[in-house]
Amino acid sequence: MDVDLPPEDDPRRVEVRRWLEEHPSPSGRVLSEAGYVVPHWPEPWGMDAEPELQLIIDDELRRAGVRRPINPIGIGHCGPVILLHGNDEQKKRYLPPMLAGEDIWCQLFSEPGAGSDLANLSTRALRDGDVYIVNGQKIWTSLAEIAKYGILTARTETDVAKHRGISYFIIDMHAEGVEVRPIKNMQGGERGDLFCEVFFTDVRVPTANLIGEENLGWGMAKLTLANERVSLSKGGLIWGNGPTVSDLVDLVKKNGGVDHPVLRQRLVDAFVEGEILRYHHLRQISAAVNKKPGPDASLRKALSDPHGQRVFGLAKDMLGAKGMLAKESMDPEWEEWVTGFLFSPALTVGGGTSQVLRNIIAERILGLPHDIDVETGKTWSETKGGLAVG
Ligand SMILES: Cc1cc2nc3c(=O)[nH]c(=O)nc-3n(C[C@H](O)[C@H](O)[C@H](O)COP(=O)(O)OP(=O)(O)OC[C@H]3O[C@@H](n4cnc5c(N)ncnc54)[C@H](O)[C@@H]3O)c2cc1C
Repeated sequence: MDVDLPPEDDPRRVEVRRWLEEHPSPSGRVLSEAGYVVPHWPEPWGMDAEPELQLIIDDELRRAGVRRPINPIGIGHCGPVILLHGNDEQKKRYLPPMLAGEDIWCQLFSEPGAGSDLANLSTRALRDGDVYIVNGQKIWTSLAEIAKYGILTARTETDVAKHRGISYFIIDMHAEGVEVRPIKNMQGGERGDLFCEVFFTDVRVPTANLIGEENLGWGMAKLTLANERVSLSKGGLIWGNGPTVSDLVDLVKKNGGVDHPVLRQRLVDAFVEGEILRYHHLRQISAAVNKKPGPDASLRKALSDPHGQRVFGLAKDMLGAKGMLAKESMDPEWEEWVTGFLFSPALTVGGGTSQVLRNIIAERILGLPHDIDVETGKTWSETKGGLAVG
């Protein structure tokens, strides 16, 4: 695989550069209407861009200092599902402000009794004429406090196997009966980066907000999770965002290097891991994984989450006692490393825990049998007499 970007005079690059000269500080709306927010999506939302063009666009936006709108759950997880399963009306109404970053979205999947085993969810949506009445509770909902819309999985039929009878809705987060309670996290939590609990009490959701067919939401929920793993596995250490290990190397060099032999070895180990992940990411792009999320994204997430934890832990150790200072007294250059360290335990939980990712890799990449028989709730070794471990 060729990992060099196309040359400076590549006509595709020239075209993007010309557009950026004409629009030096584009709003989210202008950027999205030009197709630069999701270039890999079909027109009119994107540009049907092949992987190389995606890389060119990313590179030119970065050079021009132009940032895409920040709406990670909307653009990364919910949008692709609406694009694939929404009707024309839903696409026209919800996608433009989502892609422009004007309407923030959240994902209402996890419940106190349904995390890894998402199909165990018990939030109910009962049809009553042209509305569904929703009752139940969700938890760990990122961005719920600032979101205008959410995607909700709720049970519409009960007397069926648990993966059936689930439907997929768009929820107006300001509708009557929706109550959002923030949960403060270890970082201190600022408005917008909080987890929330969300309670639904007799919320009236129009039938027009159902995506796809009633009771067939499980396939879409799986697609959302697969898209989540793709969007969580880009370059940065925090699920694709934030700094990379190379940024830490640069910071260390700027500060005169590291003379502690063990820290020096750990830095090189982390750099080697980072390089492997960088090449894996390029391979994913080259396989156009954005168009067809598959188990490879789980593999990358299983590798990159512990890598993120190791790099943030290393940065904290390099800082020594200074790493324990409060945010206000912190050297600004190191602040993102210390806040990253405080967030890092969450990396191997959110978006699929390390153990669940390993189950997916075992089944879908290694071809091993299921860990749990969904019908009986028993392990494969219990039902079929396989290898019992531990
Ligand atoms: C930072 C962050 C943001 C999040 N944002 C959102 C959000 O926006 N929306 C949303 O809906 N959810 C969100 N979540 C919730 C997240 O998806 C769940 O925490 C995750 O799915 C795990 O579920 P759980 O916490 O209920 O743990 P459980 O599923 O109860 O798991 C507990 C432990 O058991 C292990 N385990 C479970 N099943 C198996 C198995 N079959 N084999 C082996 N081990 C197993 C797990 O790996 C884990 O160690 C977020 C979580 C985090 C940390």
